[in-house]
Amino acid sequence: MTPLEFDARHLWHPYTHVLEPGPMHLITGAEGVWLTRDDGVKMIDAMSSWWCTVHGHRHPAIIEAMQRQLGTLPHVMFGGLTHKPAVELGRSLISLLPDGLDRIFYSDSGSVAIEVALKMAVQYQIAKGYSERSEFATIRGGYHGDTWKAMSVCDPVNGMHGLFRGALSIQHFLPRPHIQFGQEWPDDPAENGLEALAALLDGKGDKIAAVILEPVVQGAGGMYFYHPAWLRGARALCDAHDALLIFDEIATGFGRSGEMFAMDHARVVPDILCLGKALTGGHITLAATVATEAVARGIGESEAGVLMHGPTYMANPLACSAGVASLSQLQQRNWRQEVASIAQQMETELAPARILPSVAEVRVLGAIGVIEMRDRVDPAIAHRLSAESGVWLRPFARNIYCMPPYVISPEELSRVTAAMVALAGGQQ
Ligand SMILES: *Cc1c(COP(=O)(O)O)cnc(C)c1O
Repeated sequence: MTPLEFDARHLWHPYTHVLEPGPMHLITGAEGVWLTRDDGVKMIDAMSSWWCTVHGHRHPAIIEAMQRQLGTLPHVMFGGLTHKPAVELGRSLISLLPDGLDRIFYSDSGSVAIEVALKMAVQYQIAKGYSERSEFATIRGGYHGDTWKAMSVCDPVNGMHGLFRGALSIQHFLPRPHIQFGQEWPDDPAENGLEALAALLDGKGDKIAAVILEPVVQGAGGMYFYHPAWLRGARALCDAHDALLIFDEIATGFGRSGEMFAMDHARVVPDILCLGKALTGGHITLAATVATEAVARGIGESEAGVLMHGPTYMANPLACSAGVASLSQLQQRNWRQEVASIAQQMETELAPARILPSVAEVRVLGAIGVIEMRDRVDPAIAHRLSAESGVWLRPFARNIYCMPPYVISPEELSRVTAAMVALAGGQQ
């Protein structure tokens, strides 16, 4: 059996047909924005390998830091022991984050960071004497990961988890904020959509531990950008009803939306923040859940005193060393300028797709470019056309999108946008 035959016979892939996985590329190497296939053909990784590789693949400074760490301490348990990479990464994160968020819990993946955040919220509410507050509210169109509780706050319809509906705890879903990023914000809650959150918290507030959402950019739930003012309203309503506010910046953290964090568009600070994906520059898995002092104190002063969570590979030193090097890259380079240039170029080069009859909308925010089609994109056509164009795109549902590494050159980005527009045209 060739590697591809073995793969098709024995390996599961994400959200891929079990028996007919469809075409698959065998990747043998990567450097910068480029992936190399076993047949020698190179493709631009326009997905940043699912939002992660913001500095490109195998960034020399990150590789060097990881190699040094491999030579001293690739792993050690975090119970009762600590190490410099965890501390250094903590220092970098605290310096990047807005004031108030300063208690960091490391875990191994984004979904787990969400589980930890939800647990923190429930434990905090118990500590405050609100043991009835065990439910969550969220907005439609969200995506928060694939583990069990995270799944319960993903969009129940367009999310990928409708199948499990009967087995999941029921949460409270609000309409997606309908005022888009860049549109005029109406102050009347009946018009701006905040009325629904106010009504929910008025009626069921005594059951709700927290409101969880992706600030400004909804990723895997639909690649949708909404008005930051919604978050300011949500912050005020949560405060008035003693509900915590959790932001999931696993996809948007570290510059992707044009600000260091998407919440910076709104200047709103949540009680709990989840980070992941680009945290290590896409070199190794790591996530973090960051809470305010008040949340940590609430849990710490409760009867339990401890947060009931502790992953085996918590704060893995190798992963933390990659995180330190990746954040240092961000601070050394002018990522804001890089992202702004990418945004501007995508605005210009994706615009021609607007006149295609098959296209519903084209939108760009930071280094995220989206062509939303009227109908579902055919994955087989997408796979073939993107491979032919030397650009790796993986559309889902009705969205052809890219979020390239910030280090992509203008010429390389032009290839990406041309491939996207061709793919949108090839779908009719
Ligand atoms: C990817 C993602 C997650 C889940 O992270 P994993 O590392 O895949 O578990 C959660 N929330 C958002 C917004 C994401 O984009």
